[in-house]
Amino acid sequence: MKFGGTSVGDADRLAATARIICDYAREGCPLVVVVSAMQGVTEALLRAASAAGERDTQTWSDIGAQLRRQHREACSELLAGPDRAAVEAQIEARLRTFDEFCSGFSLVREVTARSLDTLSSIGETLSAPLLAALLRREGRSATACDAAELIITDDHFGDAAVMFEPSRQRIRHRLLPLLEDGQVPVVTGFRGATVDGTCTTLGRGGSDYSATILGAALPADEIWIWTDVDGMMTADPRMVPAARVIPELSYREASELSFFGAKVLHPKCLDLPLRAGIPVRIRNSFGPERLGTLIDGRRRNQPGVRAIASTSSAELFTIFGDKLMPFSRLAALVFSWLDADHVTTLVVTQSSAENVLSFAVNRRDGARVRRRLERERSPSETAWGLAGIEELPDVGVVVAVGEGMRGTAGIAARIFGSIARLGINIIAIAQGSSELSVSLVVRSADLPEAVRAMHEEFGL
Ligand code: ASP
Ligand code: MG
Repeated sequence: MKFGGTSVGDADRLAATARIICDYAREGCPLVVVVSAMQGVTEALLRAASAAGERDTQTWSDIGAQLRRQHREACSELLAGPDRAAVEAQIEARLRTFDEFCSGFSLVREVTARSLDTLSSIGETLSAPLLAALLRREGRSATACDAAELIITDDHFGDAAVMFEPSRQRIRHRLLPLLEDGQVPVVTGFRGATVDGTCTTLGRGGSDYSATILGAALPADEIWIWTDVDGMMTADPRMVPAARVIPELSYREASELSFFGAKVLHPKCLDLPLRAGIPVRIRNSFGPERLGTLIDGRRRNQPGVRAIASTSSAELFTIFGDKLMPFSRLAALVFSWLDADHVTTLVVTQSSAENVLSFAVNRRDGARVRRRLERERSPSETAWGLAGIEELPDVGVVVAVGEGMRGTAGIAARIFGSIARLGINIIAIAQGSSELSVSLVVRSADLPEAVRAMHEEFGL
């Protein structure tokens, strides 16, 4: 079971989470818990780091004081006796590390990606011992574990790639004896470490991924992600008031929805459960009686579109190649740059006769792509025949998702019809040959209407 930041946001939420865990962690039901930092903590740590890099001592020391207050408050409300003193001492030690790192950043006026991972994941090393102590107080034996000792990654700091096989061995070696001993391990989310022990992180929202790594390694019977919503939804409820929770999805459908902006799950986190065939459930810790969304590999005969995903802040780049250059070379060049910069594309389209390649990326990656294109284009533009670059900054991507679209005629016509009736211009279109999703690029301003129209068209 993984609990996100809002499920451990303050003393009350921690208590509610402990109740959920105690309800399930009965005899004969071994359970591993993965926990995020308390709500807002990761954000605060990142803000502190960038303030420190700019020698804004006031800001980072205020943040440090606030983090001390927040965690000590939860401690004093929930714990007592020697356990409380021990957790308080741990909190103090970790916040000293915080002070040391921030002082270091301001001294050298620089925040390296490597140090930032240690700093930004301090929150998880505060929440895990707190929750473990609380479970002990409720009569469960529980042990806090640092995932930096369990999950081995490469050294792409900030968004490290997991080496599953060696991680699996460590996870089993460390956690199985605890489970056999009737303990509930409470593992820090988000964190991993390189082979030589340097702390890394799995990307923002990475605790979901931590949970599926542990679940696949053990292996678990099921992986439950406790969050603050009822499950994955048919559309973003801020755009579509009629959106509702989807009780069941396939791994591929859920991955597609997370990739295109559903914030509920980390986009990479379903790969391992899919391979291992482990069902994943999304549950609401604010409403544990509700069933949430079940994600698994069963075949279902649900026809057509199951949900509309959307990303409202994207940029579309169009690259015009020289007519003489094979399209595949143009594509190879452009994608090698994107790969080198770790940029993920949302939608890709090609027009071979004209040698035009278009792709949409998240807006946060836009500047990086622009800089790279400008750099590669000059000075030897003619060397590889780039004829031009066009950039459309304010676009959104709307995606119809459903395994049942495969082999069903007429779905594309309904998608386009629903958009056309509103007079919305479609800038680019892509459908994978897996027929799992159809993506449309529209202007950002048109996105909410387009999402609503498609949601209605398919009676979601
Ligand atoms: N605490 C980390 C973050 O806010 C990881 C997580 O919550 O999943 O990104
Ligand atoms: Mg999350």
